[in-house]
Amino acid sequence: MATGGCLCGAVRYEVRGPLRDVLMCHCEECRRWHGHVSASTAADRDDLVMLQDRGLRWIDSPRSEAGARRGFCAECGSSLFWDPPGRPTVSISAGTLDEPTALRVVAHWYVSQAGDYYELPGDGLPRHEFGGAGYPTQFP
Ligand SMILES: [Zn+2]
Ligand SMILES: [Zn+2]
Repeated sequence: MATGGCLCGAVRYEVRGPLRDVLMCHCEECRRWHGHVSASTAADRDDLVMLQDRGLRWIDSPRSEAGARRGFCAECGSSLFWDPPGRPTVSISAGTLDEPTALRVVAHWYVSQAGDYYELPGDGLPRHEFGGAGYPTQFP
C-alpha cells in the first residue's frame, strides 16, 4: 500500500488502491504553488485516507477550470494535494510519496504555459498544450 506525507510529518496519508502514473504539469498555477513544475500521481478519492491531518489546510485553486482546491501542510509548507470536487480522483504530489513508488513520469501537461527559464526535457514523452484533450478519464 502506498504511503506518503509532508516534510515534517503533520500530514501523513495512505492510498488503499492503485495510483496513476505521474504527469508533469507546467501550468502557471502549478509552478507558482509548487515553486516549479508539478509532478503528480492520482488516486480514487475513496482510496486516499489521512493517517495524520494535523497540519492539513486547503486553499481554493484560483484559476482552476475544475474549481479545485489545493491541500498543503501549514506547519512545514509542503504542497500535497489537488482536489477537484466534481471528479472521482484527487491528485497527489509525487514527491510526497514514500519510496519505492513503482511509478513513472508518462506525459507533460500545459506545456503552452511552461516557464521561460527552462527547456522542456527531450524525454520523448507526450506533450499536451493544455490539460483537457486526452486527459485520462479513469483518473481525471
Ligand atoms: Zn508538514
Ligand atoms: Zn498545473
